[in-house]
Amino acid sequence: MAVEYLCKVCRGVLNVKTSIILSATKLNGSKRGLIYLNPELGNYTTTSHPTFKIEEGEEYVYNCPICHSQLNSLKYNHLVRILMIDNDNKEYSVYFSGIGGEKCTYKMRGTKVEKKGPDAMKYDRYFEVPEEDRKYL
Ligand SMILES: [Zn+2]
Repeated sequence: MAVEYLCKVCRGVLNVKTSIILSATKLNGSKRGLIYLNPELGNYTTTSHPTFKIEEGEEYVYNCPICHSQLNSLKYNHLVRILMIDNDNKEYSVYFSGIGGEKCTYKMRGTKVEKKGPDAMKYDRYFEVPEEDRKYL
């Protein structure tokens, strides 16, 4: 079984062919479009239509293209959360930055966090939370 990415709300599958497909809207703006993310963790190549480009340093709200729920984390400011199911059918939370140009990914399951990307230090503090408090996040 291949790795799959799911919406954290409706659990609809977000990856089609070789991309994770999300809808994005510029924060405090009206520009919106589809964005294709590379499903390989640590690969920050994105694809979008020429009329909709993610701007460096701008924050975006990401939505599930299936149920339209907002995927930005309510607790981890500036991060976006989706679910990942790996080859062993294990479920992880995958966080990435909603700010254009920031390269960081956190793959979390229980107390284990795998960090990737040159900007991973930026939100390190979010993941130093004691396990018993995690359920509130
Ligand atoms: Zn959804």
